[in-house]
Amino acid sequence: MLNRLTIVLLITVVSIISSLIVTFVIAEGFGNGMDAINVACAVIAPALIGPMVTWYIVGLLLKINQLEQEQRSLATFDALTGLLSRRAFLEQATHALHLAPAGQIIALAYLDIDNFKQLNEQYGHAGGDAVLKALGILLQHLIRKHDIAGRLGGEEFAIFLPAVSKDATYQILERIRCAIAQQVTVFEGQPIQYTVSIGLSLYPKSSSTQLEALITHADRALFDAKRQGKNCIALDSPTSHS
Ligand code: GH3
Ligand code: MG
Ligand code: MG
Repeated sequence: MLNRLTIVLLITVVSIISSLIVTFVIAEGFGNGMDAINVACAVIAPALIGPMVTWYIVGLLLKINQLEQEQRSLATFDALTGLLSRRAFLEQATHALHLAPAGQIIALAYLDIDNFKQLNEQYGHAGGDAVLKALGILLQHLIRKHDIAGRLGGEEFAIFLPAVSKDATYQILERIRCAIAQQVTVFEGQPIQYTVSIGLSLYPKSSSTQLEALITHADRALFDAKRQGKNCIALDSPTSHS
């Protein structure tokens, strides 16, 4: 992107050229022709006034543009983990769901860190935050290009996986679960290890498939994963569908 100085210089040059053209047209119109004084006035006035005014205005516009980008980034990405915020995840996953052809298998995984409250108590809130941050980075590395990962809130995350088979989904999620269990986050010199439980809903897309329903089913499966002893994946049972 052009910087402030370049923009100001460009505007000044354009102003000088415009001023010269206008002065030339006026001078010719009166039949006087351009003389050295006309040229000097046409150049000096915009050369002096232009940079003073535009430096301030361009600075203001660039600042507004920067703030707008920061605002958009804050709304899109979770500041701690770098993953999509809840709202952005829901938006992007809904869009991907709409694009998926009918019959394509859609999977939604709901991840929840096990015993996170205890982890916070043991290492402090900052230790918990370090874990959340490390998990965000790990997830970004482990998901596929078309998968969408977001932090839904607290220590809960979701991954939307379009176009997968059941076996492939399990492989991806097992890889993620194992990588998380093996990851060591060092906080203030102390190694922290933790696990996640994963609830999975996985269905061929139909015209009535809604993201909210996928999340609800994955959340229900997550409850099963916790009941089964945590650090595991549970699939939403098809019998639970009405
Ligand atoms: P379970 O294995 O059943 O999931 O138990 P849990 O302790 O992980 O679950 P619980 O929902 O009881 O605790 C979640 C904790 O996450 C409580 C809350 O203080 C903590 N938490 C939520 N958001 C943040 C955050 O941004 N940073 C930190 N450090 N902790 C957070
Ligand atoms: Mg939770
Ligand atoms: Mg938890």
